[in-house]
Amino acid sequence: MKCEIVPERCIACGLCQALAPHFFDYTDEGIVTFIGEAHALQEFVPEKEQAAVKQSGRRCPAHAILLHDSL
Ligand code: SF4
Repeated sequence: MKCEIVPERCIACGLCQALAPHFFDYTDEGIVTFIGEAHALQEFVPEKEQAAVKQSGRRCPAHAILLHDSL
């Protein structure tokens, strides 16, 4: 599973990092990034993070987190 983020949509609510603190990070402005990959827009999701990342994708109020099974 891959996760895609759309920073232009992010409203800096902080929910995704609360749900998946080992996967998501933020810019100084609070906009979503990936931990350790500050400029990436897609990242492979490790098995142990998948449940938390899926929940982030479902609950992101801005639809800024997209999940792709087949990428
Ligand atoms: S849950 Fe969505 S809107 Fe909130 S910080 Fe994460 S990506 Fe941005």
